[in-house]
Amino acid sequence: MDLKTYKGRRNFKATPEPDGDENVPLRSSRIFVVQEHHATHLHYDLRLESEGVLRSWAVPKGIPEKPGERHLAVETEDHPLEYAEFEGTIPDGEYGAGVVKIWDAGVFEPLIWEKDKIEVVMKGDRLSGRYVLVRFKRAGEKDWLIFRAKE
Ligand code: MN
Repeated sequence: MDLKTYKGRRNFKATPEPDGDENVPLRSSRIFVVQEHHATHLHYDLRLESEGVLRSWAVPKGIPEKPGERHLAVETEDHPLEYAEFEGTIPDGEYGAGVVKIWDAGVFEPLIWEKDKIEVVMKGDRLSGRYVLVRFKRAGEKDWLIFRAKE
């Protein structure tokens, strides 16, 4: 659990985003959210609950909905759990300035959760089924690929 980077980038007096200091009750199932983020470049932020935070990836082309498509997912800083409910406008001049909307949310079941590979079953309104994230080391340290697995 490490929200230092998240907090260091933000001025919570200026942005309506959560500061991560709220007490969050323990949850029995893991949550996920995909937020459509109209920042300098439109991207989709995938966030998966793990050990009390949301592991996060920015996916410029969105989450692939058909098997066979692989999209780049760039790992970003862990976010607080309550960020899963955030929608709003991050003001100009603040980190990630722009409109954030929830594109999908739900729960997931982790099948594989390793340093270089994550496999989950998504149960959302738009996303359902088995998804795989694998590190894409040739591209860069923070780069992963995400794809939908064949059922
Ligand atoms: Mn973002």
